[in-house]
Amino acid sequence: MKMIYVYTLLLLLSLPACGQQDQPITDSEGTTLASANVEAAQNDASKKSKQQYEVNKTEAEWKKQLTPAQYYVLRKKGTERAFSGKYNDHKEKGVYTCAACGNEVFTSDTKFDSGTGWPSFYKPISSKNVREVADRSMGMVRTEVVCGRCGGHLGHVFDDGPKPTGLRYCLNSVALGFKKGE
Ligand code: FE
Repeated sequence: MKMIYVYTLLLLLSLPACGQQDQPITDSEGTTLASANVEAAQNDASKKSKQQYEVNKTEAEWKKQLTPAQYYVLRKKGTERAFSGKYNDHKEKGVYTCAACGNEVFTSDTKFDSGTGWPSFYKPISSKNVREVADRSMGMVRTEVVCGRCGGHLGHVFDDGPKPTGLRYCLNSVALGFKKGE
């Protein structure tokens, strides 16, 4: 009975894991293969997280390109002082861009006066242009809004916005650029 158990265990350990057929089988010992597979999967995951944005720069490159205030908000997820930003009360028609990479993120058509002191919108240009990420910092559970192209921090989204979405994208002026429309 004990022998059957040992044989079954050896057989199971010698089978290659699903989806890992391209992994060369170099050792007959199950444990070695298993750890090699885990390592390969971890390398893949780390590669993916590094390549998840189209625009990838080092912190040194961002620091060189951005002003200290832009760097603090876009790369360090900081927040500008309320009513201090140039787009809070900005009413021109046009497109708001990511100040780090120029990606178009919001339009003036969806901007509204939230009274909070930060430029506020009820909808991004598209769900691809921005990404929403869970943020558990500062003892709160919030949803962070980042640029879909470079990952730069733009602000947060809350569910107390106006119709038609009921959402309030609360952004930092310093993280935005503006292209005037016709
Ligand atoms: Fe960007």
